[in-house]
Amino acid sequence: MQQPSGVSPHPRDSGSSAGAAPEALTDRLLRSWLRCHRRAWLDRHGPAEERRWSSHRALTLQDQLHSFQSLLPTRPGHGEAACRAGSEGVVGLRLRGAGPGGIRLEAHPPLLLRIDSPSRWGAHAYQPVLVRQGRHLTREHRLVLALWGRLLAAEQGAPVPQAQVLAGSGSQLQQEVFKLSSGLQQQLEDVLPRLAQELEAGRQPPPLVNDRKKCTLCCWRSLCDREASAEGHLSEVSGIGSKRRDLLLSLGVTSLEQLAAADPDALASALEDHGEQHRDVAAELVAQARVQASGEPRRKAPGDPLPELAAAPGVLLYDIESDPDARDDFLHGLLRLERGENGWPDALGAAQAPYHPLLALQEHGEDRLWQRLSGLLEHYPDWPLLHYGETEAISLLRLAERQGATEAERARLRRRLIDVHQRLKRHWLLPVNSYGLKAVATWLGFRWSQRGVDGARCLLWWRQWRQDRHRAGVPPRRAAQPLERIFRYNRDDSLATWAVARWLLEAPDPALTGPADAPTPGASPRPAPSTTPDSSSTPDPTPRP
Ligand code: SF4
Repeated sequence: MQQPSGVSPHPRDSGSSAGAAPEALTDRLLRSWLRCHRRAWLDRHGPAEERRWSSHRALTLQDQLHSFQSLLPTRPGHGEAACRAGSEGVVGLRLRGAGPGGIRLEAHPPLLLRIDSPSRWGAHAYQPVLVRQGRHLTREHRLVLALWGRLLAAEQGAPVPQAQVLAGSGSQLQQEVFKLSSGLQQQLEDVLPRLAQELEAGRQPPPLVNDRKKCTLCCWRSLCDREASAEGHLSEVSGIGSKRRDLLLSLGVTSLEQLAAADPDALASALEDHGEQHRDVAAELVAQARVQASGEPRRKAPGDPLPELAAAPGVLLYDIESDPDARDDFLHGLLRLERGENGWPDALGAAQAPYHPLLALQEHGEDRLWQRLSGLLEHYPDWPLLHYGETEAISLLRLAERQGATEAERARLRRRLIDVHQRLKRHWLLPVNSYGLKAVATWLGFRWSQRGVDGARCLLWWRQWRQDRHRAGVPPRRAAQPLERIFRYNRDDSLATWAVARWLLEAPDPALTGPADAPTPGASPRPAPSTTPDSSSTPDPTPRP
């Protein structure tokens, strides 16, 4: 495999002299490797300046802290002195030992819990505690626990037959005991030499992970995205996940370019052997690959993608911010865009539009939110409600139902909700590797005013604001900052949705303008000055979320 640019071994590895002790394998490296072999390689050898701060990791650490605080009423002790003193909980104990073939091992369990069992520290010993993300223990969790158990047993001179697993916090704290079986230790014995071998200095980086959904939360994502794009990795084609990629590889289609050059009918026949559903998507995958290879959008279906806007006096752009774990939609943001005499506002006009951030504080009750939200919606009864993705429609309709809205009222609401993402996908193929709002709006030239912000970062700000707003000693202006950032982010998402909607309104329709005016390579329908939407089109059936 060719050495990718920017992914050369770190100086500390490439320069290590013969005979120098190899670096230890750590629990973090093991965790990374179990997620993606390349990630572990990059953790050790990758260029540090390419590693991105991950808001998801910060959230995970925050959740872990809350779980530990719920488990232990008192502050844990620190290091080996706390183990000797018999603290109920201990943090900061670095464990070291040897693995199969003398591999140096190191681990840093985030918390140890005292149990009644003799050890070299007295009548008590410790067991590791892990906070589980997600509903089930994964292989990654189990093997990391096995490593902690192995090294802790050597450190305390007593076996570690089990570990504590936590999830949630406060009154929602869940605890379970996990047995560290000999079978699990055997799995660890098998895995560690492979990990050590792959991380040897001078070895090439492993390939990109097969399922690139895993990359969403990875700190090396920017680097790997660049490489995937440069090599035309099949995962770059929107609609190709790990299973479809495997199928295409088995048929000898190994890159975006090859897929773009494939005959759709021949590919459909070849894929049919693996299931009808694969045959049916063949033409769409080839078309998407061709659009990405050419860099030009292509119209999929004629007709006005947003007929509801033809006679609308204005639109409300709607975006929700949520804490998915707590199932809490904490912000309902609405941007009010009125159609002017000259048509719909352009990007500059939209940036001046009134923004209504409705906070949903649980202590105020959901009925208060519903009063404000439904009051605002009723004030603009003929204005469609534009959103990107199905989340907003599902959440709003459920909220309306919980608050006692009648079937007729909910049907009216449903008719107003327009999923811009769905309309885009129905009518257009774009040269993007994802139809998510970030990818599409960025392709259109939209820029968020705060760089590198995502939903996880927003959630961190939300938690920070809730923690600081009544805390003594925090100046009110500083306490309000996280909320202002959330509002800015939420408002930007609505502006990005409008950028996509405007593009849909302005892109030429071959059914109305004739094939000669249809978008062709080199004639990209990029955003143009404001125009009045086509009023000759007829409405689509009501979109159902
Ligand atoms: S971005 Fe993806 S491929 Fe790259 S290291 Fe992370 S998980 Fe692996």
